[in-house]
Amino acid sequence: MLSFLSIFVDIILPSRWVITVKETILVSACLLGLRCCYNGCNNTDQPVLDLRDKYILIPVCPEQLGGLQTPRPPSFFIKGDGSQTLEGIDNLINDQNENVSSHFRKGAEEALKICRLFNIKTAILKERSPSCGTHQIYLKEKLTKGMGVTATILKSNDIRIMSENDIRRPDERKN
Ligand code: SF4
Repeated sequence: MLSFLSIFVDIILPSRWVITVKETILVSACLLGLRCCYNGCNNTDQPVLDLRDKYILIPVCPEQLGGLQTPRPPSFFIKGDGSQTLEGIDNLINDQNENVSSHFRKGAEEALKICRLFNIKTAILKERSPSCGTHQIYLKEKLTKGMGVTATILKSNDIRIMSENDIRRPDERKN
């Protein structure tokens, strides 16, 4: 079987051909145009999309992976940020006052599984989301420093995380 495979590879891939393996990056699905946001919209981000030329981009929406529907009521932290959620504290509710923390934990764990499946070392995540925020999240209605649940689990597993702003030049960054 092995020798057959090697003949087959030699025929279709002559040795003078160079195969370049692109790095694989996990990306918040909404940044790539998928309509997975809580309100059924997307957050298409052209500089992130343009990375397709150089990298293999894997779109992931942790909130959908955690079992939440789209559209869904918006969620926010009532205390702390993603690190407390991962410690088991139920600190995420939606605007119907329902505790959604377990969905966010599950989605984060599934996103981490995908990183392990594809040996992903970098993730580009949507800023300010309770799942994906890398520098800022909403604590009740106030924008504050903190990290979302998925951003936290990825970072604590040595995956480099950055937001859509981090890949822009400083003068091109969104507020
Ligand atoms: S969970 Fe992340 S990928 Fe999904 S809609 Fe929110 S920001 Fe986008």
